[in-house]
Amino acid sequence: MPTAAAVTPATPLESLGGIAPRQARALYELGLTRLIDLLEYFPRDYQFEAAEGTTAQLVEGQVHTVRGEVVACDFITGRGKPRFEATLSDGAGKLAIVWFNGGFWRRTIHPGMTIRVRGRVRFFRGIPQMTNPATQRLDHPDDVAVITEDKLRPVYPATADLKSPQIENLIARQLAHVPEVIEEFWPEPLRQKRALVSRAQAYRAIHQPTDRRDAERARRRLIYDELMLMQLGLGLGKRLRTGGISAPVLRVDKNLDSRIRARFPFDLTAAQTRAVHDLLRDVQSGRPMHRLLQGDVGSGKTAVAVYAMLLAVANKMQAAVLAPTEVLAEQHYLTLTNLLAGSRVEVGLLTQRTKRQARGSIQRAIADGTIHLAIGTQALIQQDIEFANLGLVVVDEQHRFGVRQRATLKTKGLSPHYLVMTATPIPRTLALSYFADFDVSVIDELPPGRRPIKTSFFRYDQSGPAFAFVRQQIAAGRQAFIVVPQIEDNPAEDTRSVKAEFERLGRTELAGLRVAMLHGAMPTDEKQQVMQAFRKHHYDALVATTVIEVGIDVPNATVIVIESAERFGIAQLHQLRGRVGRGEHPSFCILLSDAIGDDALARLHALCKTNDGFQIAELDLKLRGPGDFFGVRQSGLPRLKLADITQELSLLETCRDDARALLADDPNLRAPAHRVIRNALVERFGDSLGLAQIG
Ligand code: ADP
Ligand code: MG
Repeated sequence: MPTAAAVTPATPLESLGGIAPRQARALYELGLTRLIDLLEYFPRDYQFEAAEGTTAQLVEGQVHTVRGEVVACDFITGRGKPRFEATLSDGAGKLAIVWFNGGFWRRTIHPGMTIRVRGRVRFFRGIPQMTNPATQRLDHPDDVAVITEDKLRPVYPATADLKSPQIENLIARQLAHVPEVIEEFWPEPLRQKRALVSRAQAYRAIHQPTDRRDAERARRRLIYDELMLMQLGLGLGKRLRTGGISAPVLRVDKNLDSRIRARFPFDLTAAQTRAVHDLLRDVQSGRPMHRLLQGDVGSGKTAVAVYAMLLAVANKMQAAVLAPTEVLAEQHYLTLTNLLAGSRVEVGLLTQRTKRQARGSIQRAIADGTIHLAIGTQALIQQDIEFANLGLVVVDEQHRFGVRQRATLKTKGLSPHYLVMTATPIPRTLALSYFADFDVSVIDELPPGRRPIKTSFFRYDQSGPAFAFVRQQIAAGRQAFIVVPQIEDNPAEDTRSVKAEFERLGRTELAGLRVAMLHGAMPTDEKQQVMQAFRKHHYDALVATTVIEVGIDVPNATVIVIESAERFGIAQLHQLRGRVGRGEHPSFCILLSDAIGDDALARLHALCKTNDGFQIAELDLKLRGPGDFFGVRQSGLPRLKLADITQELSLLETCRDDARALLADDPNLRAPAHRVIRNALVERFGDSLGLAQIG
């Protein structure tokens, strides 16, 4: 062969030897265009091919592969299961085979044919026998080579044009290039410490392992690489974002701390205090805080955020709260104005419904610093408002998580601190991967006196007793939410609409009670009036869509009925049920559903079993996969080929530590020994994390 130009990872497939143009086109259909793409087209599984033996070598209880001629067969019906029997002869001896329900083999196998079977051998009256062996008909036995040694064969994701064995051949022919094109990433001591095979060896062994352990070692090594590159990318990205950026130092002393705490009508819980300590460290560091405050619905995140806001104001800085909905913005406004009654702190509310003139003056007051705390919906406040001296931004995401679309608020001073509140717990594996550029504080304790919400699941034919229970609660002086799924987009569906259900319940199950209705299509002031009136207990029950999902805080509401509960995701159901259980009374959630699907039933039963948002998030992650969780797919991080993030907690932790150590040594990965890593990072993360600058 003539010596061609040097092969690199990027060499196009069509210019490699051993790949015909037609094959290159078929590979292109799979998205593979370069040598490295082919080498990284990893098997999805392996198939064990056992060496063939003769009938003379069979051992009781062992699995054997044998080929031979069918010398007799018989289909036996009558008592017991129907079965198809055959006798195989290979010259050395005989083997009896039984296939139960062997109708297929009865039509397929006839005396005189050669077959290959693989199964466990049992001796029966001195005759070796296999039951239901894996069976292969060899129509041209001479063309099917005898397998002479045990072998693990890769199984590739195949297409109609390219079957797995063809892909196997194509890749096998290119494996000779591995030593040339696959360079080592990690220093020898690290590889030793983590017992990693070399990168080149891993690329070879994952395609052609000697045995399962060899395959597994290769896989572990490559998963380590994926997770390690991700951690390095995140680490570098974080530093690029915050390095050299200054943020105001918010000072606190004992006196100020007690003054802030005294504002709350309760003592902070230990978990809230821990979160406060975390954020105090951040805001005194001179670098912008980038902290995720995570806690179950009703755990008291808002109080922690309020602490931070009051701290900012005491430091003569402004604070802003961005809420996902108008209702929630108003709720925060109410909380803060109540808490700050009698103080000199000015609070401004800016939502879609703020009147035009008022908006102008609020905007000016924010710009000249007369308003200390600005609260608004995200869309609005982010538009064209300029702050005089913004020190802190609180982003209330609840469970509509969109942290990657960072809030960017304009201010004249230094970069503000960011505190993001989320009620949806982030499973540890995602916290270490997709959200690794956040520092996380977890509020893992509910305020004292909270009772767990008792959740039950009823079929619609049992809705009578369910609503009777609601009436009972109302008779005892409590209030109820009835949630009905949004149906505007598909009126043909067999779901009750909010309006219809409001009228129906008023005539039937809730007749004679004070029932109100709330949904997103109502004019905004009307919505607000209904909410206020419900809060003041002018209504007993509120029939609503998911507009009540976030932030509604009515401690006297103790029961929530969720209709057609199968329509909601598990995280959303958990969030909805968090509307109750906020006061001193025992609270209840009733899921109404006629669902029959396994997934839906799994969700509903899981909710009945646990109140633990963390477990629920883990289950949600399992049911939906990390891609859909929070819409992580839009997060801009490259997809992983081998690692399943949700399964790799301990390796993620290992990689986080190893990545930190590497970056501590060589913050920009400038050392010649790190060139390969840097190139790999730029290729994978250049766009998404803005790492091109380090190239
Ligand atoms: P979250 O924002 O996490 O959903 P909130 O901060 O809105 O939770 O708190 C929920 C309810 O619990 C509110 O009524 C709040 O006043 C109350 N609360 C918060 N912290 C405490 C505490 N430490 N002790 C008693 N009640 C508290
Ligand atoms: Mg809240």
